[in-house]
Amino acid sequence: MIDMEGKRVELTSENYYSQEANEQFFSVSQYKDFMKCESMAMAKIRGEYQQPMTRALLVGSFVDAYFEGTLPQFMERNPEIFTRKNELKSEFRKANEIIARVTADPVFSQFMGGEKQRIMTFELFNAPWKMKMDSYLKGICIADLKVVANFKSLPLWRYDLQGAVYQAGVEAVTGEQLPFYLAVASKERVVDLDIFQIPQTTLNLAMDEIGFSIGHYIEVKAGLTPPKACGRCDYCKSVKQARIRNYNELLEG
Ligand SMILES: [Zn+2]
Repeated sequence: MIDMEGKRVELTSENYYSQEANEQFFSVSQYKDFMKCESMAMAKIRGEYQQPMTRALLVGSFVDAYFEGTLPQFMERNPEIFTRKNELKSEFRKANEIIARVTADPVFSQFMGGEKQRIMTFELFNAPWKMKMDSYLKGICIADLKVVANFKSLPLWRYDLQGAVYQAGVEAVTGEQLPFYLAVASKERVVDLDIFQIPQTTLNLAMDEIGFSIGHYIEVKAGLTPPKACGRCDYCKSVKQARIRNYNELLEG
């Protein structure tokens, strides 16, 4: 991804998720990978490990694809969303119901009505970052679409980190500090929907946290410090060797 003059090549929707782009740039999801397990994050960057696509992730991607205007291509790429009778499986009928519900809502539509999938690259804490916005309303706000089991699980996903980076990215590129919103719909029996603003104080704390951790991750990513293995994640399990252990370890939680 670095050309002969040592400059970074421009990211497009075609190369945004490429291995080269992941080697070259940090992203919020890569940062979260490092938080979870440094060995897993590095294996992903090297292209040796991919997060398996779960049905729940696929439902979110289905709704994302609708808003991107790429639903036909998504359906072609993921034939497993159809039954043998060529009908949508129940989760994806739910996804269709969510789409119908949120597009009929004027406030939700307003927040999702910005520029779609706008890519920006920028420097943050002496590292290059990339980001891709679901809905960018220039001069107004940044909104990101989330399809969740229910609202209560939202903070567990640490969307404050995403908000902090996206706000900093827009500010680095345009000079404007914009508020960050989550446009959230639930997969509950009756779809719930709301727009959540992540308060500036919360974004600031998240940014402090990133500033505290990123130096170490930069060193690991550059190969200057060996990655730490968590020993518990799917990646660690997939490459481990059996150990001889004390049965009573299991009682200690
Ligand atoms: Zn691990």
